[in-house]
Amino acid sequence: MDVLVVGAGLAGLHTARLLARRDLSVMVVDSRRSLSSGIRTTGIFVRRTLDDFDLPDHLLGPGVRDVLLYPPSRRAPVRLTSDRDEYRVADMAGVYGHARRAAEEAGARVVLGVRYIGASTGLVRFAGAEPVTARFVVGADGARSRVARDLGLDVNRRMLVGAEIVHPIASGTTDPAFHCVLDPRVAPGYLGWVIDDGRHAHVGVAGYPGGMRTGVRHLLDEFAADAPGRAAPAGPIERRGGPIPVGGVLRRLACPAGLLVGDAAGAVSPLTAGGLDPCLRMSELAAAVTAGYLRTGDQRILSRYDGGALRARFRGRLLLRRVFAGIRSPAAAEAAVALLRGRAGRRVAARVLFGDGSFPDVGPLLASPAIDHP
Ligand SMILES: Cc1cc2nc3c(=O)[nH]c(=O)nc-3n(C[C@H](O)[C@H](O)[C@H](O)COP(=O)(O)OP(=O)(O)OC[C@H]3O[C@@H](n4cnc5c(N)ncnc54)[C@H](O)[C@@H]3O)c2cc1C
Repeated sequence: MDVLVVGAGLAGLHTARLLARRDLSVMVVDSRRSLSSGIRTTGIFVRRTLDDFDLPDHLLGPGVRDVLLYPPSRRAPVRLTSDRDEYRVADMAGVYGHARRAAEEAGARVVLGVRYIGASTGLVRFAGAEPVTARFVVGADGARSRVARDLGLDVNRRMLVGAEIVHPIASGTTDPAFHCVLDPRVAPGYLGWVIDDGRHAHVGVAGYPGGMRTGVRHLLDEFAADAPGRAAPAGPIERRGGPIPVGGVLRRLACPAGLLVGDAAGAVSPLTAGGLDPCLRMSELAAAVTAGYLRTGDQRILSRYDGGALRARFRGRLLLRRVFAGIRSPAAAEAAVALLRGRAGRRVAARVLFGDGSFPDVGPLLASPAIDHP
């Protein structure tokens, strides 16, 4: 086999599809037995992703234009309204199913219920399946990537932990809006949120684990009890959660034995914690570099997959992440939301929430004759 992709999240499935389209033999493995279980994301797609990638409309909830930012008191939120649809919440089980079909139609094999446990000199070992030989391994195995460690590549060190509940709501009971609560008591260093897709509500919190003494699950239940904008459950409650890397794209992402994509590569906006757009955008570069390298054997091509170059574009966001992390008391959070009420504050908030800069465009890095185009 040419390429083994470890992880059938959005990054792994999209990379596999692009590689198979270049006539490489590709297998994807995931330890999950079903792509509808163990989902670790809210599934909010931003406008830029929806503009640039083809996601099936029927898997996306209604457009959201309103963001309400609440201080810890939950009183008098700052409301920001865009004149465009900024966010849509996806049915993620449907999105993974769609991405799997697209990868398979391109020629990739997707095998579930198989856990990667290690690789050396081209031989890859699994729990749940016989070993295989692969010329190249793509680590799309999430924030705590085992592939990254085995390949001697960089690993994520700065992480938030997020958790959410998802439940059906009675249709027509809410107006599409994204409610964000800045409250370090329940979400130290990040936010609590409520958003719905018209059919399901998502209520979540994320923050630095060190600041969550009672644990993320307990804080989520506390937040959910009176979260603003939450509609009553009209069916069973599903729980989601996981780590979110926020230290910026890792520097060393590729070596002759493999490379990293998605969360495994730290490809998440350090400020907004959005990682779905980077999964899709970075996979394009990962697939082009992999195919170019496997076709020519020229290791210099791997240097085009340069985390350092992408990281440089994140400087402002990494700085704002530090500011965000520094909001440690309810009084500081009240003051921060008060600042956002003014004209300058609203401008900054609108730029972060409605801007186009969630993840750098990989276009300039793709523009190399050595890189393989389908
Ligand atoms: C609570 C929460 C909410 C979020 N909400 C949003 C949001 O609304 N919008 C947004 O843009 N971003 C969001 N993010 C971030 C975003 O979800 C991630 O950045 C993105 O899903 C990462 O995709 P991925 O394919 O890299 O990794 P994952 O989706 O984590 O996929 C990794 C896959 O690898 C598999 N795997 C791991 N180890 C092994 C192994 N050893 N063998 C085999 N398989 C293995 C796992 O089972 C998993 O399926 C959220 C994150 C969290 C935690």
